[in-house]
Amino acid sequence: MNNKEVEEQHWKSIESLKEYAKENGYEMPDFSKYKFVALGYLDISEPYEKGIVSQNFLNKLRILWNEGIVCGSLGHHDCTFCIDEGNYENRATSSSEKELTDWENGVKYKFPEMIFHYCEAHNFCPPKKFIEFVMRK
Ligand SMILES: [Zn+2]
Repeated sequence: MNNKEVEEQHWKSIESLKEYAKENGYEMPDFSKYKFVALGYLDISEPYEKGIVSQNFLNKLRILWNEGIVCGSLGHHDCTFCIDEGNYENRATSSSEKELTDWENGVKYKFPEMIFHYCEAHNFCPPKKFIEFVMRK
């Protein structure tokens, strides 16, 4: 699943929850107040932003990753870039993802654990606003 598909799935599940809540007489919070951004769901068939991120950023992101809830994803993901490089035996795999909310700017981010591998092994550079958010934490 790529970033766009993860975002679409998020809003579909919110709609489904809203319907369920309505049918059962509950009030749902207004989720339209925040922007939902999925990032780091890379696929070899699509280009992605490249750059070098600082070790400081990765360390802070790891601390945030280890705090609170980590969600299991359905199935697991193999790094298609490693496989493409003929590195199937040592490919990175992951089966979890996390959401972090930037309350200040009204943005909810969702990213897979693979983001660490993509940054370190494949020079993935997350959006600047996400890096700034992580560094402010
Ligand atoms: Zn890889």
